[in-house]
Formats: sequence, C-alpha cells, structure tokens
Amino acid sequence: MISSRVLKIRKRIALVAHDHKKKDLLEWAEFNKAVLAKHELIATGTTGKMLEENLDRPIRQMLSGPLGGDQQIGAMIAQGEIDVLIFFWDPMEAQPHDPDVKALLRLATVWNIPVAMDRASSDFLMTSPLMHTEYEAIIPDYSDYVKRKI
Ligand code: PGA
Repeated sequence: MISSRVLKIRKRIALVAHDHKKKDLLEWAEFNKAVLAKHELIATGTTGKMLEENLDRPIRQMLSGPLGGDQQIGAMIAQGEIDVLIFFWDPMEAQPHDPDVKALLRLATVWNIPVAMDRASSDFLMTSPLMHTEYEAIIPDYSDYVKRKI
C-alpha cells in the first residue's frame, strides 16, 4: 500500500545555516522574502534569531544546531512536521556536530522531503509552482523493514 502526506499550500520550511553560510542564507532569504512570507518558517537557534531580525517576522526557533537543534528538526521531519528543508551546510569546515548534520540529511531522504543545500537549488525550489499548491508526497514504504524478523 502506498502512503503519502499532503503538503499544504502554506508549507512548513526548516532553515539551517552553518556559521560561514549564515550571510549567504540571510541574503538568499531577503531575495526570497515575498515567497517566504507565504509559509511558516522554523530554524535552528542562531539561524532563526538572525532571520527573525533580518526578515522582521516571527520564526520558530529550535535549539542551536550543535546543541541539538539539527536533531530537533530531524525529529520533526520524522513526525511529518516539516515540508521543506533549506540547509546551507559548510563544505569547507568540519563541524563539532557533523554526525547530527549527516543524520538530518539522512532523515530528509528517509521521509522524501524536498531539500536544497545551496542558493541556486533553494531559488529553484522556491520558484517551483508546487510551493503554491497542495502536493501529495509519497512516503516510502518501510513496512517490510518494520516487520522484519531478526
Ligand atoms: P545555528 O545552528 O543556527 O544555531 O547556528 C546551525 C547548525 O550549525 O546546525
């Protein structure tokens, strides 16, 4: 049986940026301010605080990434509470929470969440017509895995 979840017109967008990518994300968010205004924004702590100041709108803030924020967002994805992930991770620097970064990207794929990891991909995602309509996303079938005998 194929199961799915419906992404509503107003999407729940999670935003995360590593320190050296925060400026990029703020510029990108300013450029996409009008489209972002139509959706709910959730972010890791420091990213969320900076976005809130820059966009002058409320952003739901989780813990700072290295303190558990990435994992909180990963848990929300697993619970069906996030529709889109914008994650500007830093390819040039190891992070103290590298395992959490990998876990977040993994969960986004496990649950078939649209993800963008740089400005160009994020622009493409935000200009998709699907950002303004309901979208039925297929949830991969993990029933055999869940029922497996060990
Ligand atoms: P921050 O976390 O927004 O609290 O800086 C981002 C991250 O490093 O995951």
